[in-house]
Amino acid sequence: MEPPEIERLDERTIQRIAAGEVVERPASVVKELIENSLDAGATRVAVSVEAGGTEGIRVRDDGVGIPADQLEAAVAEHATSKIGDIEDLEAGVGTLGFRGEALYTVGAVSRLTVRSRPPDADVGAEVTVEGGDVGEVRPAGCPTGTTVEVDDLFYNTPARKKFLKRVSTEFDHVNTVVTGYALANPDVAVSLEHDGRETFATEGNGDLRSAVLAVYGREVAESMLEVDWEPESEEEGAPPATRVTGLVSHPETTRSARDYLATYVNDRYVTAGALREAVLEAYGGQLAPDRYPFAVLFVEVPPDEVDVNVHPRKLEVRFDREAGVRAAVESAVESALLDHGLIRSTAPRG
Ligand code: ADP
Ligand code: MG
Repeated sequence: MEPPEIERLDERTIQRIAAGEVVERPASVVKELIENSLDAGATRVAVSVEAGGTEGIRVRDDGVGIPADQLEAAVAEHATSKIGDIEDLEAGVGTLGFRGEALYTVGAVSRLTVRSRPPDADVGAEVTVEGGDVGEVRPAGCPTGTTVEVDDLFYNTPARKKFLKRVSTEFDHVNTVVTGYALANPDVAVSLEHDGRETFATEGNGDLRSAVLAVYGREVAESMLEVDWEPESEEEGAPPATRVTGLVSHPETTRSARDYLATYVNDRYVTAGALREAVLEAYGGQLAPDRYPFAVLFVEVPPDEVDVNVHPRKLEVRFDREAGVRAAVESAVESALLDHGLIRSTAPRG
């Protein structure tokens, strides 16, 4: 048998394969677009999706906008306004994005329109990308800020499209992401709409409990207990300068089937099994079987203790001293419950 010839893939194929790695489902697109809006200093972010985001996604903000002459760069590969070089990166990034690949990647596997008008521009402009083909930049009438529309996600990658779940499942993922950012940014008015119906809208008045009210309703908002915790001594095992703040629900305000935990590390929305377990552990025997609490928890640790850069698509996080962070979160939730006499004091450690 003849050995097969090795050939370099064409650019389009490379682009689509790469896109499939970053954009897993509608919720991953929504995450990237919201992060761009927040990076742009938006005070309002309106998300609306059709059919769980599988047919259409629109994110509109009132941020700084993109000047017409930069629209093409905005959808180009490795193009970002957020860092200049590797030294900027090592100095630490203050923005949520920095890789300059989200719009490029989404444009490769959908029909993407970016329409924008900076506050000082008289008219706006828009550019459309279809399956990686970038169209011409045209003038467009629009309010200040940026609107990004993503239609027919994965229309040109049928294998990827097949992996999408039911509309309700895809919408659940979208809802979780938008909720996560809404709770992390109570000073931004975040809204979500599905097939023309409003799911929730926060006020953007800076108050976390008011954001919880908008997202989870009055009963939950009123039951939330304040968490504000710092280790009293090194012995508690937490990394130095750890702080845990936020809200957790009364042990009787729960839901079945799944938990509603939003956890943030250094203001980044993350999922971490260790944090989830720590919260549930803190409630101990107070939860009825198969009942789960609500929690919105912000964990601050020194930046060098945590690696959030595990994978662009994922919200995972790794800690240098995971056991310490876990213990900190458990103690923080425990002390909130203790303060309200909702659990009994556990035996002192050591
Ligand atoms: P990154 O966020 O990593 O820079 P993106 O592909 O997400 O890469 O965006 C590319 C660039 O487009 C950003 O650096 C920013 O300059 C601009 N941009 C994208 N979305 C917005 C927005 N909503 N408002 C203002 N500028 C935006
Ligand atoms: Mg981005």
